[in-house]
Amino acid sequence: MSPEIQQLTERIKLFTKERDWEQFHNAKDLALALSIEASELNECFLWKSHDEAKVEKVKDELADVLIYAILFADKYGFDISELILEKLEKNAAKYPVDKAGKALCA
Ligand SMILES: [Mg+2]
Repeated sequence: MSPEIQQLTERIKLFTKERDWEQFHNAKDLALALSIEASELNECFLWKSHDEAKVEKVKDELADVLIYAILFADKYGFDISELILEKLEKNAAKYPVDKAGKALCA
């Protein structure tokens, strides 16, 4: 795992531990929290054009999403960098460059 991601993970876990919130952070509730925070990110744009959303609020909600994603990955012992690189490889095989722009998602 990259030192930056490891450091972020430890910082988030310390924040959680200091508040005794680990008791609530099972995989199911972390997944729900991640989804709810993604909805809060969506809410920043609700009934607005994309440029009307408040950037500070967007940053806050994106940070919440990332924090829960990091906690979720940690719960399963996933290496985030490895996970993303593996998924990019799968996506590259599924969506070859030479076919890009010729059809919408399958
Ligand atoms: Mg939030």
